[in-house]
Amino acid sequence: MQVARNMVVAFEYQLKDAFGEVLDSSEKGEPMEYLHGVGGIIPGLEKAMEGRAVGESFQVIVPPEDAYGPHNPKMVQKVSRSNFGDQKEIELGMRFRVQTNIGPRIVTIVDIEGDDVTLDGNHELAGETLHFDITVRNVRQPTPEELEHGHVHGPGCNH
Ligand code: ZN
Repeated sequence: MQVARNMVVAFEYQLKDAFGEVLDSSEKGEPMEYLHGVGGIIPGLEKAMEGRAVGESFQVIVPPEDAYGPHNPKMVQKVSRSNFGDQKEIELGMRFRVQTNIGPRIVTIVDIEGDDVTLDGNHELAGETLHFDITVRNVRQPTPEELEHGHVHGPGCNH
């Protein structure tokens, strides 16, 4: 079977940045599943999956515009340490949810200088060119319910 629109695809992946550093990977023996052709994964990867056969391995390089978008400097903001109130431990790389005028966002502390704390609301992979090693493990028909919902139902995920 081949990857085609509205098929459920299971694949293993390793994700590296442009310097070859591993950023993420699927757990061994636990491939990631998605419904193909409905935007369930980043566009550049979905495009590269089209027509692949079960067992096929390939590499794909996805530029930011086909992944998590460019890094937007407007989403980087300097705030005063006093904004954190009682929270005493403030460290580089800490991530938390904040309310903004466009809804809740995850921000990351990217710089701390004296009283100034710099927050970055970009996706952590924004601006990154992503290098994927992919192996297609399975392709199957979706259940009518999965097709109707537009996503895969797995263990513990039947919403
Ligand atoms: Zn559902």
